[in-house]
Amino acid sequence: NGDDLLRPLESCISDAERFKGAATLELTCTCGAHFTFGGIQESPSYSVTFSGIHCNGCGTELSSLRITSQLERLIRKHISLYYAGWVECDDVSCGVHTRQVSVYGKRCIGNTGRSVGCKGVISYVYTDRELYNQLLYLESLFDVDKARRQELRPLQDDRDDKSSPDSGEMKKGISQSTLDALAEQNRDTFRAFQSVVQKYFEQCGRRYVDMASLFNFS
Ligand SMILES: [Zn+2]
Ligand SMILES: [Zn+2]
Repeated sequence: NGDDLLRPLESCISDAERFKGAATLELTCTCGAHFTFGGIQESPSYSVTFSGIHCNGCGTELSSLRITSQLERLIRKHISLYYAGWVECDDVSCGVHTRQVSVYGKRCIGNTGRSVGCKGVISYVYTDRELYNQLLYLESLFDVDKARRQELRPLQDDRDDKSSPDSGEMKKGISQSTLDALAEQNRDTFRAFQSVVQKYFEQCGRRYVDMASLFNFS
């Protein structure tokens, strides 16, 4: 299936690079605080402890149900974005942005909608690859082994923008021994969150193959 095809190709890219464009998982606490959850790593807004994910604002542990429902909401949003099937023309002077797929496949339907007047090629605005990458990213957030190896996408993508002169300063973060312990303590609960994502992988993996073959976009 598509999942198996994509994984090996991308396995040599770092998560920081691979998931740069992926939407972050925003969690909202019962106290109303919002924060970006980036897995087991240093954050001013949340802490992962032996008993799960805690809001730093109020100290409350976020329930599994709360995390799962916010995770699923984000996944469904991206799946519907993909299935909305928006396509656009690669010719900037044409500017066709439509949900209508021409009988000529990848050929632009043009402004008349009759496949005349434009030599551009249309493609999905939100691609199957982006959807897969989004799901992979969300799955990675709960990968405790990646967290131990400090391979997660950093919470701040644009570290280079920070023009701090003391780059030789010790990198702040969670110590390796604490990371190791947190990984083991949260392994089972985090695996349950990963299985939420995996359920959607299977579901849209099948449909995505159907859609790709239907429109000959694969
Ligand atoms: Zn809170
Ligand atoms: Zn066009």
